[in-house]
Amino acid sequence: MSELPEEWGDGTRSVRAGEEAPVPGAPLRPSPVFAAPFHLGDRPPRADGADAYARTEHPTLRAFEAAVGELDGGRCLSFATGMAAITAALMACASAGDRVVLPADGYYTTRLLGRDELDRLGLRVEYVPTPAIEGLAARGELRGARLVMLETPSNPQLDVCDVAAVAEATRDAGALLAVDNTTATPLGQRPLALGADLTIGADTKALTGHSDLLLGHVSTTDDAVYARLKSWRDHTGATPGPFEAWLGHRSMATLDLRLTRQAENARAVAELLAAHPRVTGVRWPWRPEDPSFPLASRQMARPVGVVSAVLPDEAAVARLVAASRLWAAATSFGGLHSTLDRRAQWGGDDVPPGFVRFSCGIEDTTDVVTDLATALDAALGGP
Ligand SMILES: *Cc1c(COP(=O)(O)O)cnc(C)c1O
Repeated sequence: MSELPEEWGDGTRSVRAGEEAPVPGAPLRPSPVFAAPFHLGDRPPRADGADAYARTEHPTLRAFEAAVGELDGGRCLSFATGMAAITAALMACASAGDRVVLPADGYYTTRLLGRDELDRLGLRVEYVPTPAIEGLAARGELRGARLVMLETPSNPQLDVCDVAAVAEATRDAGALLAVDNTTATPLGQRPLALGADLTIGADTKALTGHSDLLLGHVSTTDDAVYARLKSWRDHTGATPGPFEAWLGHRSMATLDLRLTRQAENARAVAELLAAHPRVTGVRWPWRPEDPSFPLASRQMARPVGVVSAVLPDEAAVARLVAASRLWAAATSFGGLHSTLDRRAQWGGDDVPPGFVRFSCGIEDTTDVVTDLATALDAALGGP
């Protein structure tokens, strides 16, 4: 698989990432190769790079990993879910007794992984709110850490953290920096280029973007870290199968188009919400009024399709869902459909009862905005 020319744009890169040189008579995209063991014939296992057993390698996975790695700017290992990828990053890089810093306001299950599994195995896990991790970095208080994890923009509160500044501090401290880049995707932010050692994606979300797959990945430019992660995956077995990998690769081709429409919709939705007198706390890092605006504009390549805001209470959110035709209540985000999620119902995020994460889909902007405006008026009373 060849590297893509630097001058190609995001649309071209999304389509061509991970593709082999074209072969006359062959399909434009290879089909999935379904195999658990491969024929060894009369040759020793893995002679000339031949595949042997799909838990450790298979051709469909290689193509998908080449594609994601191409966009991330590193070598990618794909996992069965986002959590399998996060688990690999933490467990392959840290050991009992090591100090590990996790975001206190990040993805809830990452914190549960720390509390219920990593603590038990003797890792010294600290939970620090995303904005405060920058403070630790600035004060040299990451010394003694083995691994620092950031989630930026954080989910669901959309705080943006300065990756380059934290990367400098982790480097000085001899620690590794891992960034959960799920919300941004590799087209929105390239943590490895900003100095992170690992970038992680829950590809269940926007990268594959059709709300029908579970996948995750870790990319790195560090060969030793790559080898540790590969060993972890080979031994623990969270390898995606061929159909998942093929669907993930196929879905990625439209990433640029999907993100562009989602961002247009998010801009309009953020404005609509901000203008409503009974909606508060609107967060979208590309509104000039947003506290993360200056950093997001500098650090990120494009806006995300997720907006968060606070409605007066739980009942108001229920009325909003009932009054809407296009905004479905669903967790997860980054898909084709516009969805909203009242986060407090899950019990894991420190947010008010009416806090809603809006994930903008790829429907027409006029339609999602008109539908949301009508539903807001029905739920909250007109402006
Ligand atoms: C969804 C999500 C995950 C976990 O991904 P799964 O595929 O559900 O395991 C991790 N981090 C973030 C930021 C997420 O949104």
